[in-house]
Amino acid sequence: MALRKIASIGHPILRERAHEVTPSELAQTSTQELIDDIVATMRDANGAGLAANQVHVPMRICAIEVGSNPRYPYMPAWPLTILVNPVLEPSTRETFLNFEGCLSVPNLRGQVPRFVSASVRALDRHGAQLDFEVRGLTAGTFQHELDHLDGTLFVDRVVDTRTLCTWVEFDRFHREEFARRASDLVARFGS
Ligand code: ZN
Repeated sequence: MALRKIASIGHPILRERAHEVTPSELAQTSTQELIDDIVATMRDANGAGLAANQVHVPMRICAIEVGSNPRYPYMPAWPLTILVNPVLEPSTRETFLNFEGCLSVPNLRGQVPRFVSASVRALDRHGAQLDFEVRGLTAGTFQHELDHLDGTLFVDRVVDTRTLCTWVEFDRFHREEFARRASDLVARFGS
């Protein structure tokens, strides 16, 4: 297991559509090692998720995990989930404004509209089918990670660019208000 270098905005790999993983590719040792490295790198950087192309491998694989995260203290917990070839289908047209950050966009946050619920279909790391529903802030995290696999970054979806801020200014001026909205979402969706 090794920590990998995370690509920053401006690196072309973040703008490519990552390719589908075949069953034989998924079974390869190098792919299983990549998955271990994605998890280790995500945890080391305190990320809520990390996609393979963020560590310079353009495959449709990402990891999501939320424990007690100092970057996102208001986020509800979500167990480690590895998604291979994931597909996300919004189950409503209702959106909320999520205040997002990204390990590939250092020191910037901004408000992004996300669907409040969605169904997710994917394979797990062993090729077994996953099929589940995500809601609230968790749904926002999934939409952010799946966007990466299509070469989309959260900054592309920021509607009001005046919401962009550094992490220090987020804490000073925006965190309290967003934490209030976040707890309303958690109360409504349990996630
Ligand atoms: Zn990201």
